Parts: sequence; C-alpha cells; structure tokens
Amino acid sequence: MRIIAVMNQKGGVGKTTTSVNLAAGLARKGKKVLLIDLDPQGHASLHLGVDATPDVPTIYDVFSQARTLGEVRHMVSEKLFVAPSNVDLAAAEVELVDSPIREVVLRDSLERLTRAEPFDYVIMDCPPSLGVLTVNALTAAHEVLIPLQPHFFALQGLSKLLSTTALVCRRLNRNLRVTGVALCLYETGTRLAADVCDDLREFLKHSDPDAPWAAAKIFESLVRRNIKLAESPSFGQSIFDYAPKCSGAEDYAALVEEVLAMERPALKETVSVRRPLTNSVPLPRAA
Ligand code: ADP
Ligand code: MG
Repeated sequence: MRIIAVMNQKGGVGKTTTSVNLAAGLARKGKKVLLIDLDPQGHASLHLGVDATPDVPTIYDVFSQARTLGEVRHMVSEKLFVAPSNVDLAAAEVELVDSPIREVVLRDSLERLTRAEPFDYVIMDCPPSLGVLTVNALTAAHEVLIPLQPHFFALQGLSKLLSTTALVCRRLNRNLRVTGVALCLYETGTRLAADVCDDLREFLKHSDPDAPWAAAKIFESLVRRNIKLAESPSFGQSIFDYAPKCSGAEDYAALVEEVLAMERPALKETVSVRRPLTNSVPLPRAA
C-alpha cells in the first residue's frame, strides 16, 4: 500500500485536480484506491460526483470520532472509493486543538481500515493550509506529491512547505518522503515556466541527504493547461470519463504511469541523527 498526500498550502495550483485524476487513473489501472478529501471545500468529493449533504457521513465524523473511516468511505466505482468532506470539516481544525491525539487521528483510523480492507493506494487531497488537517495527512502518509504551478512565487511557498515536511518527519513520521513535484497548469513555450523548473531542479540537486525531499524528482509528465480539466468537476467526472481524448487526460495518464513505476520509499530502520538541514530554504530567482 502506498499512502500519498497531495499537498501545497497555496490554493489553485492543481491539488484537487491532481488528486482526483491520479486516484481515478490508478483505479482504471486496476488498483484499489481510496481518495480522502481533506479540504472543507469538498471539491474532490464533488469532482467525483459525491455531494456531501448534511446526512452523508464525511471525514469530519472520523476526526470527531463519531464514525470509522470504513463507515464514511463511499464507493464511486468498483476500484475507487472516496471519503468525502464538506464544510463541517472546517470545525475539526478548531476542535482538535486540545486533543492529545490531534496529529494522529487520520493515521490511526487509516490503519484500522486498511487492516480489515486493504487498498493499493490512498490519496489525500490536502486543504490550502499547513494546519492540523495537513499535519494529519503528513503523519499518515509515506509520500508527499507536490503540485506546483510554475510561476515566480511558486518557489517561495515551497520552502515553507518543505520545512513543514521536515518538522513532521522529525516529530511524527520519520518515514515521510517528498517523492515528486508535478508541474500543473503548465504553459508550454513560456520562458518563465522553464526558468522555475530549472531553479527547482538546481535546488533539489543540492538537497541535504537527510532531508525528506532528498530523493524528490520533478515528474516528466507536465500537466498542461486544458479547459476540459476545468470543466470536468461540474460533471462529477474524472477527466478519463469526461474527455478521455483531451490533452488533460493524456497528461494525467502519463503521470499515473510515472507514479506506478516509482518504488514506494523504503521504511527507515534506524533513528536518523538530528542535525540542522542544509539548503532547507530554496532561493527564488531574483526578479
Ligand atoms: P487546488 O486544489 O490546488 O486549489 P484545483 O485543482 O482546484 O487547485 O485547481 C484550481 C482551478 O484550476 C480549478 O478550477 C481547476 O478546475 C482548474 N485547473 C486545474 N488544473 C488545470 C489544468 N491543467 N488546466 C486547466 N484548468 C485547471
Ligand atoms: Mg483543492
């Protein structure tokens, strides 16, 4: 089983589009997939046609310990399940503050579910913040996939995001690895996109070997801007059902193949030596 958190604290960079189409694409390849919607906006749920009206069990019920993850997961197709969310989830951020188990609720409920019902992949669509919901995702995950829209400010946000993974790795989940950066909403042929990618590649090349992102790669598959990707959520369909021949479907199919080809990162046997990380902050190119 691989557990992947799709994370970036910036909004509108392609997290939900990537989570949904990665999950759907893996399911099309015969993998049993659970998509966990961790954003109170509930966009991933809606994108798969699940409207979490007040009577529908949601991931909020898991955080408030009213239900198990098994009770809230909803079948979308034979291989694809979603644990939906709605605006109720916003309350979890506040309610968990005083809980002694606030960072591990999701990890524990996922462990309980997957012992009884194995999944090949668990994909978590994180909210656009570094709050307790994202920390829950990072604590439960083996891998972090970062969707990034290649423009000038992209790398500035990245340093904060990476230091959060380092913190969670030290304190809560030493097996956490940033495995890849997926370039989304890519404008082909622009100099800026190419520059940002070069800077990012350079930064990753000089990563501290102990940093959780030391082995991260930039996915070869670029997700180009494609209007069909923006249309498909309102039809409650993944891109593979909505417009299987468009460039968006092509790009996400290629990303799925790359994810399938990756090895799950090895689990650490020994406690790593704690020392300050070098190059923990990527330097954005001067404007
Ligand atoms: P996030 O979850 O990071 O906020 P979304 O995946 O919701 O980002 O994407 C933000 C908006 O951009 C959405 O309206 C989505 O439909 C659209 N979008 C995402 N990726 C693409 C793309 N490659 N081409 C065109 N529109 C896209
Ligand atoms: Mg989103």
